[in-house]
Amino acid sequence: MKMTFLENIMSQFNAAADVLQLSDSDMEMLTTPNKVITANLVIKMDDGSFRMFPAFRVQHNNVRGPYKGGLRYHPDVDLEEAKSLAMLMSYKCAVADIPFGGGKGGIEVNPKALSSRELEALSRAFIRAMQCDLGPEKDVPAPDVYTNETIMDWMEDEYSRLAGRETPAVITGKSVKNHGSLGRDDATAKGAYFIIKKAVKALGMEGRKLTVAVQGFGNAGYNIARMLEDDGNFTVVAVSDSKGAVYIKGGVHADSIMRHKKEEGMIDGIYYKGSVCEEIEHKHMSNQELLELDVDILIPAALEGQITKDNAPNIKAKIIAELANGPVTFGADRILDKKGVLVLPDILANAGGVTVSYFEWYQNMHDEKWSRERVYGKLRGKMEKAFDDINAIRQKRRVSFRTAAFVYAIQCIMQAGKGKHWP
Ligand code: GLU
Repeated sequence: MKMTFLENIMSQFNAAADVLQLSDSDMEMLTTPNKVITANLVIKMDDGSFRMFPAFRVQHNNVRGPYKGGLRYHPDVDLEEAKSLAMLMSYKCAVADIPFGGGKGGIEVNPKALSSRELEALSRAFIRAMQCDLGPEKDVPAPDVYTNETIMDWMEDEYSRLAGRETPAVITGKSVKNHGSLGRDDATAKGAYFIIKKAVKALGMEGRKLTVAVQGFGNAGYNIARMLEDDGNFTVVAVSDSKGAVYIKGGVHADSIMRHKKEEGMIDGIYYKGSVCEEIEHKHMSNQELLELDVDILIPAALEGQITKDNAPNIKAKIIAELANGPVTFGADRILDKKGVLVLPDILANAGGVTVSYFEWYQNMHDEKWSRERVYGKLRGKMEKAFDDINAIRQKRRVSFRTAAFVYAIQCIMQAGKGKHWP
């Protein structure tokens, strides 16, 4: 039977709990959210009617600092799933060594069906409903699936109005003109880029051009494709979006594909490179085919549950970097591990986003403005240290990279919590 997202995350957690021989009470503390806040947001629609949208915020664990994590706007947001995602955020913050705990929230809405005015009213209503539980030292939301800097700006403004003073550190992922940080826009991909470079070195794969396939062409997928192309040591041979994939043996050229996607609304159908209308030899394929391509590095940057025990035996990549949250299931993990595939887990591979969120929060708290170079330099330091620390645990304990990352995170959280917040 197919495992739910929560069951998958719990299995991943249990593998680490076994290594650490955690007690039942420790396991309960580490997996149960501290608080769940729910609300029904009512807004006036453009046609004069009123509509209600369910919303929630999960606050998982704050022994290491304020709750931190994204807000998603999606018709299928699910509270149970958000609980697991909030737990992953606690672990991600520990892995990145930033002083936050985990949170996640959402509104059950299809944002594409709302006008900009309705979206703003909804975002402001969320803040009014949650204001007592948010704050720079309590809980600091950020963008996630289908939310962006404009929404973060509205939310920051609403919170500041209610607080009676400008409070930029209540939210991260804001626009640069509104106290946002340089380098936050492509931070998730940048963090993954540093981690991939470390993994390539650790596996002794340097010295030849490596092939890459990227599933998903949103912010993270597009930027990682672009960064790997710019690096010069990688050829990104395939990219996809929800409608399909395109494969070009000599490399896809991420910027041309992005231009095409903006014009046509999808990347399937592209076969001209740039504006010179030079026809490129290309192949269309499904997302499934992309995942099973014979490439060195596979980057799932779209949705949860993409690589399962059913397609894991067909995966040919040597490295998988999880840019999405939870794209490789627990069942797949075990198969890939046996095959010797290195899976760089989400709580490490996509931790760049929340790490630069921390830099943004820090700049806001101290009224500083950092250059993009400074942000990238600090991000690189954090990512490389996390990779080395987790790799050391992996080698010492002879476990997968994911289990090692969970072990590392659990140890950090327990160190902060024991004797202080829990027995
Ligand atoms: N939503 C992102 C994540 O899942 C970023 C969260 C944040 O910046 O707080 O990691």
